[in-house]
Amino acid sequence: MDFELSPEQREIQMLTREFAQAEIEPHAAEWDREHRFPRDLYAKLAELGLMGACLPEEYGGAGADFLSYILVLEELSRADAGVGVTVAVHTSAVTLPILTFGNDEQRSRFVPPLARGEHLGAFALTEAEAGSDAGALRTRADPTGRGWRITGSKQWITNGTYAGTFLLFARTDGQTPGARGVSAFVLDGEHVRVTRDEEKLGLNSSVTNDIVVEGVEVGRDRLLHEEGKGFRVAMATLDGGRIGIAAQAVGITQAAYDVAREYAKERRAFGRPIADFQAIQHKLANMSMELDAARLLVYRAAWLKQQGRPHTEEGAKAKLFASEMARRQTAEAIQILGGYGYTKEFPVERYYRDAKITEIYEGTSEIQRLVIARAVLGLKQPVLAQG
Ligand SMILES: Cc1cc2nc3c(=O)[nH]c(=O)nc-3n(C[C@H](O)[C@H](O)[C@H](O)COP(=O)(O)OP(=O)(O)OC[C@H]3O[C@@H](n4cnc5c(N)ncnc54)[C@H](O)[C@@H]3O)c2cc1C
Repeated sequence: MDFELSPEQREIQMLTREFAQAEIEPHAAEWDREHRFPRDLYAKLAELGLMGACLPEEYGGAGADFLSYILVLEELSRADAGVGVTVAVHTSAVTLPILTFGNDEQRSRFVPPLARGEHLGAFALTEAEAGSDAGALRTRADPTGRGWRITGSKQWITNGTYAGTFLLFARTDGQTPGARGVSAFVLDGEHVRVTRDEEKLGLNSSVTNDIVVEGVEVGRDRLLHEEGKGFRVAMATLDGGRIGIAAQAVGITQAAYDVAREYAKERRAFGRPIADFQAIQHKLANMSMELDAARLLVYRAAWLKQQGRPHTEEGAKAKLFASEMARRQTAEAIQILGGYGYTKEFPVERYYRDAKITEIYEGTSEIQRLVIARAVLGLKQPVLAQG
C-alpha cells in the first residue's frame, strides 16, 4: 500500500493549485455575487490541459490518470465549486463516456474538441418528472428510417447555455416507462434550445439550465453505444462521476477549514485567541479528521476506477461521506467565525451554500445509501436510480 501521490500527480495538483490561487480564488466572491459564468477561464484551463486532464493525448487530452483528474477537481473546487462542477460535468459526464462507449468514428470526431476545451460538454438526463427515478424520462427518439427524431425537455442541465456537445438520453421504445428502451445520443449545441437559467442557493458561477429538443432529426452516427442500452451508459457515467463530486466536496471543505483555522488563531475573546478554547480546538480536530477520512475514501475510489476495478460501492461511499461531511463541516466553519461567518466579508457562507448541492446531484444521499446497501447485501444494483 502506498499513500504517496506519484511525482506526476503532485505536479498536476500543484499546477492546478497555483493556477486556482492566481486566477480563480480572487474572483470567486464576485462571480458568486454577480452570478457570473467565467467563460474565458475555460480557455485558460484548456491551455493547461485541464479540460481533458485524464483523456489520452491522442484524443487531445493531457494523458494523466484518473486520480490526477480527481486532484484537479479538488483544487478547482477549493477555489470555486462552480468551476469545479463545470469541469466535472464536462469531463466525467460527457467526454469520458463518449471515449468509453463511442465507436472509433465517434471518438475521433467528438472527443478531441471536448478534451482540448474547444467545446464544453453537458449531460442531459434529468427531466421535470424524472430525477432519481431517471427511468421515468419521457424525451422521445422516434425512428425515421435513417435515424431518429428527438423531442423533449430536460431540466437542470449544468453547462447547458455554453455547451457545444450534449450527451442526451431519450426513449427509443415509444413511451414504456423504465430503463429498457432508453438510448444515449450525442447532440450539438445547435440541436438544443435553452429555455431557462435556474436560480440556485449556491454554485452561482456555474449555469444550470432547462433545455428543449424540438423534433431534431439525427442519423445513426449520433447513437452512443447500442440502441436501448443508454441506461447502462448513464449508470456507468454516474458511477465515475460521483467520485468527482466527492472530490468537489473535499475541495470546498478544505477551503472552509483553511479559513476557520487561521481565523481561530487571530480572533481574540476573553483576552486570548479563540483557538485556545477547547470547544474551538475540538471543532478544528473534527474538521481535520473528517477531511482526511473523506479524502482517503475519494482517492481509494479513484484508484480503483483507474485500475479498471469495480468501484460502484466505493464511489458511493466516497460521495455519501464526503458530501455529508462537507455540509457538516462548512457549517462548523461558520460557527468558528461567529457573526463574521454569516456575512459576505468571509467566504465560508459561500462554501456552506455550495457544499449542500453535493448531497443532491449525481445521486442524492438517499440513493447512495441504496447503492451501498445493495452492495453489502449482495443484491442486484437498482437499474432505475440516478446514482
Ligand atoms: C445545481 C444542479 C445541477 C444539476 N446538474 C445536472 C446535470 O448536469 N444533468 C442532469 O441530468 N441532472 C442534473 N441535475 C439534477 C440532479 O441530478 C437531480 O436533482 C438529482 O438526481 C435528484 O433528483 P430530483 O431533484 O428530481 O429529486 P427526486 O428524485 O424527486 O427526490 C426527492 C427526494 O426523494 C428522495 N428519493 C427519491 N427516490 C428515492 C428512493 N428510491 N429511496 C429513498 N429516497 C428517495 C431523494 O433522495 C430526495 O431526497 C442537477 C441538479 C442541480 C440542483
